[in-house]
Amino acid sequence: MSLTRREFLGCSALCAAAGLVGSGQADDAPVNPKNFALIHDETKCIGCRACEQACRKVNQVPEGVNRLKLNIDGPYHAEEQPYYTFTRESCQHCQDAPCISVCPTGAAFRDKATGIVDVDPFKCVGCQYCLAACPYRVRFINPVTKAADKCDFCRKTNLAQGKLPACVEACPTGALIFGDLNDRNSELVAVLRSARTVRDKLDLGTNPKLFRIPSQKPGVL
Ligand code: SF4
Ligand code: SF4
Ligand code: SF4
Repeated sequence: MSLTRREFLGCSALCAAAGLVGSGQADDAPVNPKNFALIHDETKCIGCRACEQACRKVNQVPEGVNRLKLNIDGPYHAEEQPYYTFTRESCQHCQDAPCISVCPTGAAFRDKATGIVDVDPFKCVGCQYCLAACPYRVRFINPVTKAADKCDFCRKTNLAQGKLPACVEACPTGALIFGDLNDRNSELVAVLRSARTVRDKLDLGTNPKLFRIPSQKPGVL
């Protein structure tokens, strides 16, 4: 069987994220029953920020800090047909996560059942090593709990209730696709196989599991 270039690119991203090809030194065993990941389809995103608001409400994120930021840039080509770009800033749930490697107390950890990178606030001593180690700059000290905090794909809230992450539930356009990389029949895997996706800072060897379908508008890429 031969693969088209598109299929090859989709499969490469998928296999790398699933830990099926060499990815360097893992912080812990990469074999999880589930291995959750997220796609942000920037071509479907309208910048409404419903995802941000839902995240804050469901996970009781205090004002002044964010588990999820939606960046809006532009307008580009304002004199012709103006357009904006929308990018998501949140934890990438790296397969090889430096935040876990540097944590001296085990507070930064990967949930074995889901592959989600999470924080145990009761073990956290607030040293901020993980904030410094995260190349995506998505961790913060929660002003209420005084512990490190970040997106956990709603592991302790919506997922625990059998629902999708709050941002995915709230998105009105289907721009967010959440699923299990280990489930070859999932929508997530189907999209990864068929669409051109990119991941940020791959050269750092973090093997992130937040995929983007970048905008195809001229001048963006
Ligand atoms: S994006 Fe940062 S906080 Fe999230 S898993 Fe990677 S290193 Fe850790
Ligand atoms: S701030 Fe907390 S989670 Fe981060 S490295 Fe220190 S103890 Fe670990
Ligand atoms: S809710 Fe969906 S469409 Fe709205 S900003 Fe978030 S990802 Fe984009």
